[in-house]
Amino acid sequence: MGTLDMAVTALPGIGPKKAAAFEKLGIRTLRDMLNTFPRRYDDRSVMKPIAMLVPGESCCIRAMVATQPRLNRVRRGMELVKFQAADDSGAVEITYFNQPYMKNNLRMGETYMFYGKADAVGRRKTMTNPICERENRAKYTGRIVPVYRTTAGVTQKNLLDAAEAALAQCEIFPDLLPPEVTDAHGLCQAEFAYRNIHFPADFLSLEIARRRLIFEELFILACALKRLHGDQTPQAGLALPQADITGFYKTLPFSPTGAQRRAIDAVLSDMSSGFAMNRLIQGDVGSGKTLVAAAAAWMTANGGHMSVMMAPTEILARQHYHTLTELLSPSGVRVGLLTGSMTAKEKREAKANLAAGEFDLLVGTHAVITPDVELPRLALVIVDEQHRFGVEQRAALAAKGKKPHVLVMSATPIPRTLALIIYGDLDVSIIDELPPGRQPVDTLLVNESYRARLNGFIRKQVEQGRQVFVVCPKVEDDEDASPGLKSAEEHAEYLQTVFSDLRVACVHGRLKAKQKDEVISRFLAGEIDILVSTTVIEVGVDVPNANLMVIENAERFGLSQLHQLRGRIGRGPYKSWCVLVSDATNNVSRERLKIMTKLSDGFAISEEDLRLRGPGDFFGNRQHGLPETHISDLGADMQVLTVAQDAAHALMASDPNLSKHPALRGAVERMIETAGGTFN
Ligand code: ADP
Ligand code: MG
Repeated sequence: MGTLDMAVTALPGIGPKKAAAFEKLGIRTLRDMLNTFPRRYDDRSVMKPIAMLVPGESCCIRAMVATQPRLNRVRRGMELVKFQAADDSGAVEITYFNQPYMKNNLRMGETYMFYGKADAVGRRKTMTNPICERENRAKYTGRIVPVYRTTAGVTQKNLLDAAEAALAQCEIFPDLLPPEVTDAHGLCQAEFAYRNIHFPADFLSLEIARRRLIFEELFILACALKRLHGDQTPQAGLALPQADITGFYKTLPFSPTGAQRRAIDAVLSDMSSGFAMNRLIQGDVGSGKTLVAAAAAWMTANGGHMSVMMAPTEILARQHYHTLTELLSPSGVRVGLLTGSMTAKEKREAKANLAAGEFDLLVGTHAVITPDVELPRLALVIVDEQHRFGVEQRAALAAKGKKPHVLVMSATPIPRTLALIIYGDLDVSIIDELPPGRQPVDTLLVNESYRARLNGFIRKQVEQGRQVFVVCPKVEDDEDASPGLKSAEEHAEYLQTVFSDLRVACVHGRLKAKQKDEVISRFLAGEIDILVSTTVIEVGVDVPNANLMVIENAERFGLSQLHQLRGRIGRGPYKSWCVLVSDATNNVSRERLKIMTKLSDGFAISEEDLRLRGPGDFFGNRQHGLPETHISDLGADMQVLTVAQDAAHALMASDPNLSKHPALRGAVERMIETAGGTFN
């Protein structure tokens, strides 16, 4: 055990400076090193006969040095060591540039392993600067070699050496999984898994190792989730009187969609059941989740109780306040607002009104959790964009009532089965239908050469009375030095110069909440033509008059993020466009962006995203309240996830605190700790 917790500085060749560089990869201890799995492998296990070398292909050969290596100084500062190497099938000319010591390292007549890219000069086969090792001490040749993710100051060789040394140092590999689990699921031992994930004996061993490590990771994840979700047997809750919802529907400016009605029916029946509701409403941006919240608050108010709704940003809280006031005031439901940016006086008034029972629904930001906010008769807690909040925040809000009903809403489209696993026994309603008359947003992918035409298009929209969103990947110019990356502030200045007669404004996360709100309200009021922003507008803002969104450096955004951004437009009666501007030439980037031009369904996009990017990136952005997994592909390894989850639950049923499995418990605690508040 002890050895796994040792710092990497215990390994040969890793001093404090190297250790600092390793830390950038999240590697502090030997355990971290062993859990840093290779990104891919280079198969150097197969020796190619020299006669079979193909120019341009990297491969391993086993060859004898056939001529005396000679050192030539071509010109100043350029030294070449050249010789012929041969095997039974043929000969190859090997050259080392600026490695004069190779002349003495290599002995004529002896056999070595070489790994490098083959080339040809006329009929002669050549290889330049191949890795060269003694046959009996081969480390980088003659086997399957791991390829790790590197960073400045840490090379492949550093990582490979560290992984090998860490494996050598650890004499005991504690098996986190109980033997009955490894037996029941045919999993290999931990030691075999760790050795073979780094240095696979062959590809079959690698598969066996991977299978075990994926299972282990998902098993730990399932234990951690179980621990956080706690006991999920239904709890008694306030039974609100059933009310005739059609009365509420009659007061609305539109008729609810079928999906909205189904979600609302589920919510109403939960709240009158006598058990506390715990329901997630999942629906793409624009699917109309707010109405479900309104109906729930309506029923609660009808029963003589109070509701609270928490949103992640000021802008969103205010927008909800306005929308919900419009939807609910015709039914006599009184809505209040409480946010952090209100003046002390405004807050005092709001709190006094609350205490006096003047509000049936309080809408706000985190401010609603503060201890001095009293919510008398609280029976319903609504959390919008729930992944933006931690478990503690949701718990703190729920603690303001006596086992209140809980409704959480999320637009993050994740594969359905996964949602059920992440959210535990939460009931899930999915709104899979957009309100009628919604025009699909036409999405175009262009590069810098379209700039002039794009500017013309922007002007045309504004001249027709519309408004335009422009999104940039960063706030200021000094933030990220990557060339060509647009900053919101600079780009706003550029646009103001191009459109000197139009009203251009800029909004980003560095502004104070109040300033941000002010700019957005002016945009909402039609006092701004072009709003340049960072992703602060990603969540929720509804401006029906905006019909064009331009996203600069689009390759910098995740697909799910682009989808959320694009959801800001196409909300009014106007034909809408989203223009992705990108000069990225790399294939994956282009392919990803093309997906946006073809698909409009959030679920489909997230699945494609998962397929193209891999889950590391997808889940790495912490959009899902899940920790980053090292080896599992949470989308693709779904079946294993379900099996591991069942096994974990069975184990925890007999040992709820994992006290009989201390090593496993340690791993579960480490996962909870590193995931921080992101677990939901
Ligand atoms: P979400 O929160 O799911 O992204 P919203 O609740 O903000 O979506 O609704 C998006 C827009 O659709 C709002 O402008 C809302 O007024 C409108 N809307 C919602 N439901 C309907 C409906 N059934 N018919 C027409 N418009 C609707
Ligand atoms: Mg919403």
